[in-house]
Amino acid sequence: MTKVSNTTITDIQSLEKALQKANNSSSIQPQPVTAPTSGVDPDKYLCKICMELEVSSVFLDCGHMVLCAKCKKTKDWKSCPICNGTITSVRDVFI
Ligand SMILES: [Zn+2]
Ligand SMILES: [Zn+2]
Repeated sequence: MTKVSNTTITDIQSLEKALQKANNSSSIQPQPVTAPTSGVDPDKYLCKICMELEVSSVFLDCGHMVLCAKCKKTKDWKSCPICNGTITSVRDVFI
């Protein structure tokens, strides 16, 4: 019976070595970043002017949501910076 247990121990040791090798090689692989893939671009609702605050108004008639509350006050917006369309009015939006 001792012979059998000896071979078993050697087998386990070689198995452990093989496992360690496998673990080492797999740890080199870059881990996929678990970013929220809800389909929503996090920059989508950022102000296109200052890129800091959340968009809070929409240009009509083109419908581009570009401005935060701060940038809205910086000037009298006459044309859309995205499509260069004429702005008839600026409406507040609530996201
Ligand atoms: Zn802004
Ligand atoms: Zn526009």
